[in-house]
Amino acid sequence: MTGAAAGVENAAPPGDVALRLVEVVKEFRTGGTPVRAVDRLSLEVPRGQFLALVGRSGSGKSTLLHLVAGLEPPSAGEIWLDGVELGRLSDDRRTRLRRERIGMIYQFFNLLPTLTVAENVALPALLAGESEARARARAEPLLAEVELLERRDARPHTLSGGEMQRAAIARALVFGPALVMADEPTGNLDSRAADQVLALLRGLAQRHEATVLLVTHSREAADRADRVVELRDGRVVADRSGAA
Ligand code: ADP
Ligand code: MG
Repeated sequence: MTGAAAGVENAAPPGDVALRLVEVVKEFRTGGTPVRAVDRLSLEVPRGQFLALVGRSGSGKSTLLHLVAGLEPPSAGEIWLDGVELGRLSDDRRTRLRRERIGMIYQFFNLLPTLTVAENVALPALLAGESEARARARAEPLLAEVELLERRDARPHTLSGGEMQRAAIARALVFGPALVMADEPTGNLDSRAADQVLALLRGLAQRHEATVLLVTHSREAADRADRVVELRDGRVVADRSGAA
């Protein structure tokens, strides 16, 4: 613990760090023996970085994203997001932080089928308490940026996979999040759509000054990142600059 604390003291000033994990552990107890999905993991992500998280299936990537999103508490350790430690927040404040400061993108899009594309994109702003007019006004430029203005009134099931993921990217960014997390967002797309989605995510995150954690199996996706962090058994086993 003292080692980690010293490391944090020597680290970049808090304003430049979007995310800081200190000796984070996550254990699941289902049967007899606990599974350590994340094992004393420390990581510091500077603001605006586009970080690819790689590692084979079961290495703890999704668990890590869930912890950072505050969807699950860590078994030990600290998770600092935007200068606040998640474990010190009430459930309400943690939920608000997730809604207002984090955008999530999933492999299977998670768009709501009964809402139109525009309504899906506007939803995070509505959930955060904005008026419909304001939420719509926020969604509009994002729809344009992901080139879905013409599909704005369509239902998600009528879109291609690439279009659905572009809608999900717009939704993730609509409220100006500090952090965008994407869990294998191209896993269900053909290579052309995947390429387009990654380029959009990269460009939009840059323009909106969001930090990105991208979980990916794709070599090309990792190559677009500023930094590639590899997990194995819940630990960081490699941390290198990306090709971007
Ligand atoms: P990845 O996303 O890299 O494939 P995961 O984070 O999903 O890996 O899983 C890491 C480890 O934690 C695996 O051994 C997995 O079986 C286990 N695990 C993940 N979620 C749970 C859970 N809710 N309950 C029990 N074990 C889990
Ligand atoms: Mg996973």
